[in-house]
Amino acid sequence: MAHKIVILDRDGVINFDSAQFIKSPDEWKPIPGSVEAIAKLKQNGYRVVVATNQSGVGRGLFDMDTLNKIHAKMHKTVVDGGGQIDAIFYCPHAADSKCDCRKPKPGMFKRISETLNVELNGVPAIGDSLRDLQACVVLGCQPMLVRTGKGEKTKADGNLPDGTLEFADLAAAVEHILGKAKK
Ligand SMILES: [Mg+2]
Ligand SMILES: [Zn+2]
Repeated sequence: MAHKIVILDRDGVINFDSAQFIKSPDEWKPIPGSVEAIAKLKQNGYRVVVATNQSGVGRGLFDMDTLNKIHAKMHKTVVDGGGQIDAIFYCPHAADSKCDCRKPKPGMFKRISETLNVELNGVPAIGDSLRDLQACVVLGCQPMLVRTGKGEKTKADGNLPDGTLEFADLAAAVEHILGKAKK
């Protein structure tokens, strides 16, 4: 059985995305149901890890201090809702950088596996962009697409990794994960 870990993309999965980037704590607004879904994961013994591309740092749109403040707001919002985010992995590099961590590259997922000292085989990974799913399947995660954020467009564009599951939103994906775990 897979470890009780769920890996989440951030923008378009936990919070509303913006084509202008999420550049301040004020712009970080949770998608309805996402905070409650994370709380349910914690209540059922799951660790929740976020893996997020944040190229706005590399592009100079916001700095690390601001990213930390945005994540502090996310942590507080989730804790206030009864949940917990155990770790956040981010790629701060610009799209044209040669880093190994910007999704669809699998570097963040490798780092999650190394840091938590777990195999990610079968671990659910939830994203709204094709690159989230492409990155996660390299480590054997179960790709899950949500239709929030860029999800509708991602679905329409097709070419999803084999075995990708689709859900309306994070709340629905978590219901599926917990329902399956009880069987
Ligand atoms: Mg996203
Ligand atoms: Zn990177």
